[in-house]
Amino acid sequence: MVQDNIDALAAKLLHHFGLGLQPGQSVVPSIVPTAVFHLPGDPTNAPYVYGRYHNPTWEALESALGVLEGAETLTFPSGMAAIGAVLMTIPRAGDRVLLPADGYFAVRALAEKFLAPLGVGVDTRPTARFLDGGFAGYRLVHIETPSNPGLDVCDLRAAAVQAKAAGAILSVDNTTMTALGQRPLELGADVVVCSDTKAVSGHSDTLMGHVATRRGDLMERFKEWRKYSGTIPGPFEAWLTFRGLETLEVRFARMCETAGAVAALLAEHPKVQSVRYPGLPRDPAHAIAAKQMVTFGSMISLTLRDASSAERFIESCPLVQPSTSFGGVRTCAERRARWGDSVPDGFVRLSVGLEPSNALCRAIENSLDKL
Ligand SMILES: *Cc1c(COP(=O)(O)O)cnc(C)c1O
Repeated sequence: MVQDNIDALAAKLLHHFGLGLQPGQSVVPSIVPTAVFHLPGDPTNAPYVYGRYHNPTWEALESALGVLEGAETLTFPSGMAAIGAVLMTIPRAGDRVLLPADGYFAVRALAEKFLAPLGVGVDTRPTARFLDGGFAGYRLVHIETPSNPGLDVCDLRAAAVQAKAAGAILSVDNTTMTALGQRPLELGADVVVCSDTKAVSGHSDTLMGHVATRRGDLMERFKEWRKYSGTIPGPFEAWLTFRGLETLEVRFARMCETAGAVAALLAEHPKVQSVRYPGLPRDPAHAIAAKQMVTFGSMISLTLRDASSAERFIESCPLVQPSTSFGGVRTCAERRARWGDSVPDGFVRLSVGLEPSNALCRAIENSLDKL
């Protein structure tokens, strides 16, 4: 049933921009690179005033993303700019925020370096035990599930119930799954943030982010924040993201299906000490993942014997690009300890791309055999 609803949204998305077009208009959005708009007389009657306030290319993207999210959506020039909008507009001095201890590191850095000095208390908890202790005393609770890079999950429906009971606002980073793979707003979250740099734009050629919410009061704050802080996307980047978004459904389905095959292979391979993928029935995250995720995602983590085995695996596999990030067309991998993540030296985050599944599985198996 959930899959049927998502299929309907993905189909609607492809025809959304065409609604309301006049004869002769282009069937795709235009890139509108302007800082100012023609503005005679009373500015309150003009649909566009100034390039920091609004832009038709952003609006095309936001409207399309809004179809998938099922909520009003605001774009930002990166995932961190979107998360920054949430962190900077919701808590006030004296409030406390709760963040994942094992999620995207820049979120903790932003909060600790810039929110804490303004008098906001910043606490962290591991994703796998995020609900322990409840949310009493928190103004903002921010969850990332599955967490990047450990791929632990947190029960979003239960988190939403606890957040409501505590009077906290629940924000969910849905980057690893996208709106097609997990529906935090429908599970009770107040706000969703996403780095569209990853699967949504999907071609490793642009940075973008968005915030979506059904709460008008919060959306007003996010809009004011963007307008006055000037954290605005470029029109060309918005257009690239729109273009990527149109193929998200087919790319993400392929990536998730191949990831399932790769994870099964890794789970049986003698050179792999451990593997985490929420779709594996033995994975500690599987039960919650099966309950709240539509698919199991395109990211896998595996642990090899040591740093040198991990580096050799990454560099020797011809279908694995050594790079950071995920959600792009090419399978890529990196050893996360090189960034200081608290993971074993041989821990590899693998982002599965669009290579045909059999070719990718054979290449990965080959490289592991040779370790
Ligand atoms: C990449 C990422 C971000 C940050 O996104 P940028 O577009 O690089 O700013 C935030 N959260 C998660 C989970 C990410 O993977």
